[in-house]
Amino acid sequence: MQPDTNPAVSRATKNPVRLETVTNLQSVQCPYCGEMFETEVDTSGGNQEYTEDCYVCCKPIVFRIEVDVDGELTGLEVQREND
Ligand SMILES: [Zn+2]
Repeated sequence: MQPDTNPAVSRATKNPVRLETVTNLQSVQCPYCGEMFETEVDTSGGNQEYTEDCYVCCKPIVFRIEVDVDGELTGLEVQREND
């Protein structure tokens, strides 16, 4: 019995998938506890609304972001989830 001696094929790892994540570090104020904190806003998806828990009081903050055609952040709003 001879061990299989296949040479390890070194694969060319040219990844065609480009992962471009555009993030902006923004200062926001928690609508619950009033604490200021910095969070990264992902502007690569255009205008969107998402929820992120406050780092301080752990309550769900709704982020509303506006992005222009160049991916530039033009607006950021935070509000309570159950407004
Ligand atoms: Zn908070």
